[in-house]
Amino acid sequence: MSISTLRIVWLYPDLLSTYGDRGNLLVLAHRARARGIDVEPMQVRSDQHIPHGADIYLIGGGEDGPQAVAAERLLDDGALARAAESGKPILAICAGYQLLGESFYANGRCYAGLGILDLRSDRGESRAVGEVAGEGSPVLGIGPITGFENHGGRTHLGEAVQPLAHVSAGIGNDGATEGAWAGHVVGTYMHGPALARNPRLADLLLSWAVGIDPATLPPVDDTWPERLRSERFAALTPE
Ligand code: GLN
Repeated sequence: MSISTLRIVWLYPDLLSTYGDRGNLLVLAHRARARGIDVEPMQVRSDQHIPHGADIYLIGGGEDGPQAVAAERLLDDGALARAAESGKPILAICAGYQLLGESFYANGRCYAGLGILDLRSDRGESRAVGEVAGEGSPVLGIGPITGFENHGGRTHLGEAVQPLAHVSAGIGNDGATEGAWAGHVVGTYMHGPALARNPRLADLLLSWAVGIDPATLPPVDDTWPERLRSERFAALTPE
C-alpha cells in the first residue's frame, strides 16, 4: 500500500462532537492498524490551523450555535476546501454535513456554507429524531446503511452530488434520500457513530486515502459491527 502512516484529522472537537462522532476516528484508526497501516490521529480545535496534506478529514455534528461558529472558522481557514479539491477523503456528520453545502440555517438565520458539496439545507417542520436506515449507493458499494439522526435541518441535493442512500426508515435529507457524496467527500446525517455501524463506508474512506480498490483491503473481524447492525435493523422491524 502506498501509505505507511495515515494522518486522520478530527476537526473541531471543541465545537462539533455530538453523539460520539469521534468514534469515527477510532473506527478508522482501528481498521487501518488492522491492515498494518500506522495511524497518526490529529485533533484540531477551532482556534488552530487545519493541517494541509493529511490523509482523511473528519467533522462531526453539533448544535446550531457551534455549527455557525465552525462554518465561519472553516471558511476563514480554507484548508478543508483545498483538501476536498485535492481529492482527500472527507467524512462530515449532520451539522458538519450541512456546513459543507452552499448554505444552512441555524438559530433562524441562513449562513454561508463552504460550498464543497452542491446542496442546501433549510429547516423541517419538526426535528428528525431516531433511527435512520436505507439502501446505500450501489456505486459506492456500501450496502444497507444504519444510523441515529437528530436534526432540525432538511437538505436538498443539487446536480453535482449523489445521495449516499435511499431512506427506508427515518428522514435523512428529506424523507427520501440520506446524505450525499461527490468525489471523495461524504456527508451524512448518521450518528451512531456512522463508521461503527457502517464498516463498509469506513473501508471505502480508507481505500480512497490509500489509493486502492476497497475489495483488495484485507478482511478484518467484523463480528461485533455485524452484531450491532443486525440489532439496529431488527429494531426497525415490527414484531
Ligand atoms: N444543528 C443542526 C440541525 O439541527 C445539526 C444537528 C446535529 O448535528 N445533530 O439540523
